[in-house]
Amino acid sequence: MTPRNIFAGAPCTTPILMYHEVIEVGPATVGEQRAFSITPRTFEMQMRYLHDHNYQTVFVRDVAAYVRAGKRLPQRLVALTFDDGTVDVAETVLPILKKFGLKATIYVNPGFDGVNDRMTLDKIKKVWVSGLIEVGSHTLTHVRLSDVPPEQAVAELKGSKSLLEKLLGAPVVSFAYPFGARTEETMHLVERQGYKNAVISGLSTQLSVEHLFDLPRKSIFESDKIAGFVRKLHER
Ligand SMILES: [Zn+2]
Repeated sequence: MTPRNIFAGAPCTTPILMYHEVIEVGPATVGEQRAFSITPRTFEMQMRYLHDHNYQTVFVRDVAAYVRAGKRLPQRLVALTFDDGTVDVAETVLPILKKFGLKATIYVNPGFDGVNDRMTLDKIKKVWVSGLIEVGSHTLTHVRLSDVPPEQAVAELKGSKSLLEKLLGAPVVSFAYPFGARTEETMHLVERQGYKNAVISGLSTQLSVEHLFDLPRKSIFESDKIAGFVRKLHER
């Protein structure tokens, strides 16, 4: 008889936090960039909190693998994620992660290669080599997967995965839906292209094997400062 995994089915409650850009916000910063970005000072304060309170960071691919295996994860564990692969990942985020010995998953659009504030492919490789960054896909060109024809969705999913795998010489298994846009159909497409997990935004930290392709992440805003950050870290 196969020994039963006593943790199988145990809820996994590791928080997955979602960041966009970490940049200085000036009077010229408006709209989405202002709403979603946080300042380097606030980000550093939050990372210092994790370090000082003995939190460990984990890549999303590893959280998903644990959930799939039905393993229980340690309490003081958090996954940090960054969407879009903008230049601040190399310039600001990685140096702060290094300072505190933390790691993060980034979701990039390799089709842009240096345009629209995105890192070049070269830069993506450079940050990945640090060992502190998991590179996931966010499609080639940030398309709303639920709005494009299935052939185009497949091309975006397949193209970004193979381009990144060629660039890094390693498997790319994590995915984030641009704009969070997904349907049952797009979730299946993502799985069929060989990804092992995908993230959305949501308030829950209940991660389950039935939801490996819509793992919820909590957004962190500038206004969270440290109090909101700590609350989001602890709320289950
Ligand atoms: Zn995005």
